Amino acid sequence: MSNPQTEKRNSQYFIDLENKYGAHNYHPLPVVLERGEGVYVWDVEGKRYFDFLSAYSAVNQGHSHPKIVSALTHQAQTLALTSRAFYNSLLGQYEEKITKLFGFDKVLPMNSGAEAVETALKLARKWGYEVKKIQGNQAKIIVCENNFHGRTTTIISFSNDPDAHDNFGPYTQGFVRIPYNDISELELVLKSEGSNIAAFLVEPIQGEAGVFVPDSGYLSSAKELCDKYNVLFIADEVQTGIARTGKLLACHHEKVHPDILILGKALSGGMYPVSAVLANNNVMDVIHPGQHGSTFGGNPLACAVAIAALEVVIEENLAERAEHLGTMFRQEMQKIIEQTDLIHGVRGKGLLNAILINDSQDSPTAWNLCLQLKEKGLLAKPTHGNIIRLAPPLVMNEEQMLECLTILKETILEFKS
Ligand SMILES: *Cc1c(COP(=O)(O)O)cnc(C)c1O
Repeated sequence: MSNPQTEKRNSQYFIDLENKYGAHNYHPLPVVLERGEGVYVWDVEGKRYFDFLSAYSAVNQGHSHPKIVSALTHQAQTLALTSRAFYNSLLGQYEEKITKLFGFDKVLPMNSGAEAVETALKLARKWGYEVKKIQGNQAKIIVCENNFHGRTTTIISFSNDPDAHDNFGPYTQGFVRIPYNDISELELVLKSEGSNIAAFLVEPIQGEAGVFVPDSGYLSSAKELCDKYNVLFIADEVQTGIARTGKLLACHHEKVHPDILILGKALSGGMYPVSAVLANNNVMDVIHPGQHGSTFGGNPLACAVAIAALEVVIEENLAERAEHLGTMFRQEMQKIIEQTDLIHGVRGKGLLNAILINDSQDSPTAWNLCLQLKEKGLLAKPTHGNIIRLAPPLVMNEEQMLECLTILKETILEFKS
């Protein structure tokens, strides 16, 4: 067998290693993963788990999907990075694929979700000055309370999460924050300062905030208002996009076509950081050579991976599966809720769901429940407050979902804090 030293390296060894040498900017559940396949991950002791986080919806296509792995390895052996100083033979093909799939004229490729959000903000501001003719440096962008759009200095400037925001100033100006799911507030701001507003940036469902689903009609009314005041509607679908909520985009539930669409996470099936900003020519053409870019954005490896990842979503009907399994999940979860005081609600769309724990914001109940779920072979993590997000890979089948619901039911009904 393998060398004896490896055998001694149990979970605690790797946890200690990270604690000692890594910045403490996360608080992970005490489980050390070393392998994944489809809906499953395995820890270093060989225990198998259902992954109910899916790397925050980056692995919608399941762990190590063979088609995406094959695209990755083949392209890595062929040509990985050229930089945008030259053309490459994959980029145009990828651009054609993604723009046709989502219905936009053009795409601007980036890497992380936060970079794509930054790109959209820059694009909106430039459009504001050059097309809408907002006076120099006066452009504002409307954002929502409890938003999560990433971790850059500009993005955290308009976050109201104290952990994300505090002590990172001075902050970037030019943002107006309004309550989420509040059309009249949006209209109020547009009415009073619409001529200086370049864009409205919104998550179609607030994922990090705790899977907060807005009222039906919110997105379509917001889009209409944006049109009326000549303001760009920017949808951050980094988490909700690519089939997660039961449609290719969460905006499609309300037949909304954003002016700017931001994608990331599952765009690569979790294989590689790939993000994208999509828009039509009237917006995208404000960017000229030298005005924005990224060393890795649009590299051949990213393009090959993203093409494969998008094909998997379509070929395997992942949106339909998310819709079907999500409905089943919420129905069964509702039955469990009726038998316990521990949980007081379940909400979500498709396979982006959350259960709401009946306890104070700062109590450890959600965390403790996640620890007990882990013991029973299901991995999930609390998001803000006492909310547990439950978002498995979309390649799950019905039988696996039933098994997971049994685990959830047993753990919840047996739970002792
Ligand atoms: C995760 C996420 C981001 C940031 O993506 P990173 O790849 O972590 O930079 C932005 N917006 C939303 C809605 C997200 O869920």
